[in-house]
Amino acid sequence: MLTYVYECARCGTFEQRQPISDPALGRCPTCGGEVRRLIAGGTGFLVKDRGSRGSHCDRATPCCGRETRCDRPPCGK
Ligand SMILES: [Zn+2]
Repeated sequence: MLTYVYECARCGTFEQRQPISDPALGRCPTCGGEVRRLIAGGTGFLVKDRGSRGSHCDRATPCCGRETRCDRPPCGK
């Protein structure tokens, strides 16, 4: 079982435990309105903030085979 988080326009967010094989809910069990799934809890999925730490060259750690910083994301990333 996994805990999914849904958002209902009327009821707000709520958690629903479902087997992993079940499809996402389309209707709110409380009011019958449309819901959308926000996140799946307990699966380790996290949206990481791209381009925060270590995403660009600096003088201490140049990339791209250069000896100086190039103000670009490291090659191939
Ligand atoms: Zn609802």
